[in-house]
Amino acid sequence: MASPPASLSTVQSTDPATGKVVARFESTPAGELAEIIRRARALQEDWAALPAKSRCALIRRLGEVIYARRRELAERVTRETGKPRAEALFADILISLETVKYYARNAPRFLQEERVPHQNLAAKAKSGRLRYEPFGVIAIIAPWNYPLAIPLGQIIPALAAGNAVILKPSELAPSCGQLIADCFAAAGFPPHLLQIVQGGRELGAALIEGRPEKVIFTGSTDGGKHVAESCARLMIPSVLELGGKDAMLVLADADLEAASSAAVWGAFTNCGQACLSVERVYVEQGIAESFTERCVAKTRLLRIGPGSDPDNEVGPMIGAQAVDKIEAQVQAATAAGARILAGGRRRPDLGPCYFEPAVIADVNHDMALMRDPLFGPVMAIQVVSSADEAVALANDSPYSLSASVWTADRERGRRLAARIRSGAVMVNDLASYFGMPEAPHGGSGLSGWGRTHSRLGLLEMVRVKYVDVDWLPRRPKNWWFGYDRALGQAAERFIEFSHAPGWRRRWRSAAGVFRALFRGHRI
Ligand code: NAD
Repeated sequence: MASPPASLSTVQSTDPATGKVVARFESTPAGELAEIIRRARALQEDWAALPAKSRCALIRRLGEVIYARRRELAERVTRETGKPRAEALFADILISLETVKYYARNAPRFLQEERVPHQNLAAKAKSGRLRYEPFGVIAIIAPWNYPLAIPLGQIIPALAAGNAVILKPSELAPSCGQLIADCFAAAGFPPHLLQIVQGGRELGAALIEGRPEKVIFTGSTDGGKHVAESCARLMIPSVLELGGKDAMLVLADADLEAASSAAVWGAFTNCGQACLSVERVYVEQGIAESFTERCVAKTRLLRIGPGSDPDNEVGPMIGAQAVDKIEAQVQAATAAGARILAGGRRRPDLGPCYFEPAVIADVNHDMALMRDPLFGPVMAIQVVSSADEAVALANDSPYSLSASVWTADRERGRRLAARIRSGAVMVNDLASYFGMPEAPHGGSGLSGWGRTHSRLGLLEMVRVKYVDVDWLPRRPKNWWFGYDRALGQAAERFIEFSHAPGWRRRWRSAAGVFRALFRGHRI
């Protein structure tokens, strides 16, 4: 692991379980970005000229490297983010391997030219096609919480589509960023096709000023707003994957054992530091008490401690500041009348970054706790009188990333899902769609725009070009100059022939259409 001399500006890798700095990485000077982008541009055209299948063959090799190094990668993720090892394996390593497999298999087909059949009769002697062309250099700015799965879910389709990539990992996960670079080098990718720059938000901002052709940003809504402003000023297209305030709707007919286990996992996985965390639970009155009791009992059973111990289920938060913030949010809610049923306090006995997962009741939408993203281990439960009220409350948020509905009636679940304003809705499961590479991920409103994962995520990495070839190159078109009364009449006949209600009227205009098609051209 890199340990540059103390005089150079560095990014630190800290173990949240102990609060100790375990490695330092040299920061990338902003002044070097122009050269880094130039190097990427110089390579990208050759990379794009390779057949998609050849690019994907290298992506398969990357999968082999990740698979071979899976234990080391999981260990590093746990060490740098604090998450339990099982979560590092499921949510970072497995998802990354699934991403590799999906795009290596499907990207060549998704990127093939597509025929566009013509509807307008006047265009029948032409063939139209869509071409999917790479942007050039794509800047990917990543968060710390899934330091492999998130950036790899974007780098892989970007490269498959023929782009070069510059990744700025989070300043809180530089070591994982470096590991990504190592894996690409070991897989035999051309040097500089994927370049890693290390630094904080200022470096991210400077990277955008370097004018990459596209920016994929994953992070907080505040960060996303700055990125959106910079991109708008420079007319750079962007994908923004931002914060969430995900709702879980538990209906009276739900299986309470499954729903309560899901709520506890959904709220506290990665210590609640997931964009898809369950932050708001709306439970129907008749089952509210037994559902809440189960959630409290299950939360009390959670084993808290360093993620490196395979028996622990909830690790530390990413830093002491994150603990301060969540503690203040919980205190504000209790001051406004909310009731803590479990957890909700710091655990300095375990280390500087531990906070006991909290179950909180008696909440309402006047409280910041139910409006602002928490990004910490807090589950807030609000009792509702009906499924309609649950939907109305779920939609009463400017965030809309994902949501879940819990019911024994699948069709009812589907109908309610259609009414929830959200990028994704799962019925009788939550968040796991993020691990399905064929499922698109992304939100709207304060949760951002654009999509990652799936075919849609690949299409974010390309410019769509429409190419049309005329089969009658010597024939002037009827709508070109040479306007006269006869052409006006022919145009009317043509419109009637194409759009008049009823076949009889259409056929009556056929002769006029025929004349128009074969009229001579004055100009
Ligand atoms: P963050 O916004 O602090 O940082 C994310 C990345 O953006 C970092 O690399 C950071 O250096 C960079 N950055 C921050 N401000 C920037 C700016 N103005 N210009 C350029 N770059 C900038 O977020 P974080 O703490 O790393 O991650 C947690 C946040 O990310 C949470 O809000 C979470 O909900 C969100 N998140 C969203 C998704 C999603 O898919 N929607 C996934 C994971 C995390």
